[in-house]
Amino acid sequence: MSLLREILEYLEFLNLSGIQDIFFDDRGSIETLGMKKNISSLRKEYKDCKKCRLWEGRIKFVYGEGNPKARLMLIAEAPGANENVQGKPFVGRAGQLLTKMLAAINIQREDVFITNVVKCRPPGNRNPKQDEIDACSFYLKEQLEIIKPDYILIMGRVAANALLNLNLPLKDYRKSTYEINNAKVYVTYHPSALLRTPDLKKFAWLDLQKLRDDYFNKG
Ligand code: URA
Ligand code: SF4
Repeated sequence: MSLLREILEYLEFLNLSGIQDIFFDDRGSIETLGMKKNISSLRKEYKDCKKCRLWEGRIKFVYGEGNPKARLMLIAEAPGANENVQGKPFVGRAGQLLTKMLAAINIQREDVFITNVVKCRPPGNRNPKQDEIDACSFYLKEQLEIIKPDYILIMGRVAANALLNLNLPLKDYRKSTYEINNAKVYVTYHPSALLRTPDLKKFAWLDLQKLRDDYFNKG
């Protein structure tokens, strides 16, 4: 059955059930009178996904974490070993650095929404493959539609390539801002790259200051 046909049938079903109106909530959820789609219900719905091979190494599905009404969404690469165990993004060493980086621009980690382009850990932390990114992209697209962030911070080249598809080195990606679903997009180094190469921190700091000025409307 085509998607349109399915939608029409569903609308007809709602109508027969006495539901006349569907409301699209401004932020945080897509709502019909009969059904509420929000980040926490979707997490449960998707946690056993097997749309790509990465489910095989999954201990926990890492859907994303944070404020479902966030103005800023952070998108990185993939869960690592600690994230796979805890089911939450950025809980290891890179996560501690990320929390500090946010605090340095007066943004609390709880205020933002953090996720990755793939929701399950690739074996041995290899880069996610294109077919895995494609299989998982539905979830990220839906998260963007529900959360409707004003700003997106992409961290690292893998996520930048997955979302912007320009195949640039990170140092060139960060020279521009971009647009995804009406959100203004900044690109900076992945916190793990900053742990490996501390000399890059000064560039990440410049990127974060620009984002901060924009976010707090001083730019
Ligand atoms: N690295 C990532 O790209 N994502 C995480 O969630 C943790 C580490
Ligand atoms: Fe499904 Fe994404 Fe996990 Fe692949 S990485 S199994 S598409 S949730």
